[in-house]
Amino acid sequence: MRMRAAVLTEFHAPMELREVEIADPGPGEVRVRVKASGVCGSDLKAIDGKSPVAGRLPFILGHESAGVVERTGTGVTTVKEGDPVIIAMNGPCARCRPCQAGHFHLCASPGRLPIIMGGLPRVTLDGAEVRRFIGIGSFAEYAVVPEAMCVKLATGLPFDAMSLLACGVVTGVGAVLNVARVPPGATVLVVGCGGVGLNVVQGAVLAGATTIVAADVAEGKLKLAERFGATHSLLVTDLPRQVDELVRGGVDHAFDATGAPGVLAKAFAATRPGGTTVMVGSPPQGHPMELDTGLLFASRRLMGTQGGDAAPHRDLPMLAEQYVRGRLDLNGLITERLPLDRIDEAVAHVRAGTVARTVITF
Ligand SMILES: [Zn+2]
Ligand SMILES: [Zn+2]
Repeated sequence: MRMRAAVLTEFHAPMELREVEIADPGPGEVRVRVKASGVCGSDLKAIDGKSPVAGRLPFILGHESAGVVERTGTGVTTVKEGDPVIIAMNGPCARCRPCQAGHFHLCASPGRLPIIMGGLPRVTLDGAEVRRFIGIGSFAEYAVVPEAMCVKLATGLPFDAMSLLACGVVTGVGAVLNVARVPPGATVLVVGCGGVGLNVVQGAVLAGATTIVAADVAEGKLKLAERFGATHSLLVTDLPRQVDELVRGGVDHAFDATGAPGVLAKAFAATRPGGTTVMVGSPPQGHPMELDTGLLFASRRLMGTQGGDAAPHRDLPMLAEQYVRGRLDLNGLITERLPLDRIDEAVAHVRAGTVARTVITF
């Protein structure tokens, strides 16, 4: 079938809107008509040639999406034609050792790796294979994905809001609920209040944290963080000292949502003895970190996470329900909605940091 897709044919260059050929879904696969796809920092990284999972061009980016099941391959049982779905970033096998231990985000099924590294060959441009970001590639009218990556939604939910759950929201909220496991009454620091950081703030509210300190170098982002439930905001100059003035001795839980080198150690130094720091943003590749081991000795913990350590079929429906109950603000995250042919404008806005989230809508 022919479809329109935004294709990256050269790094550091604009994407090209092209007619490509997408295959029918194979056994166990689903073809989804994409209705909305958020633009994420990881997409920008791929455009810059810095993504370890997007090394070979041509490429279709986009991995934060929701849509409608258009066609199912043989053996598909959990979704049917017409079902609204979120396309999750992973489709755990549920059988391997990490899956059996409940670590679905670490699924070690041999079938997962080729999907993460650009997907199975399902899309072609003039006969040549087009790779797709973590096997999705939702800056296109359709996506063919494994059934396990489709999370069925209740009907009637807005696709633009639902798309955000797949990456930015589950990463931020999951870092709080699944990784740090913030208890009610905790003190929390969130460094970096962009698309993901705002969801860490929302997650802290959901968890019942009583003090939520938002920190950023941009004043506008702090204003937004307050709207999402931050109780205090800090325009960063000397982070550990500023935090100590607000929460004597340091916070219980710190989250670095910047991905910027040097910030993680500062966030770590702003926790109390026994406190936890989670790196939520994805760091530059091969970047070493310097840490005051004296701080680590005082029972502090430093943790990583991939996509909020999400179990998609558990967490995404839960987040959709929190949205329905009014406990999760998704519409407030969407600064603008743009059509696919304005994808490069969308990318420029995300790069400039002037938007919380830009969503491509179809
Ligand atoms: Zn993302
Ligand atoms: Zn598995």
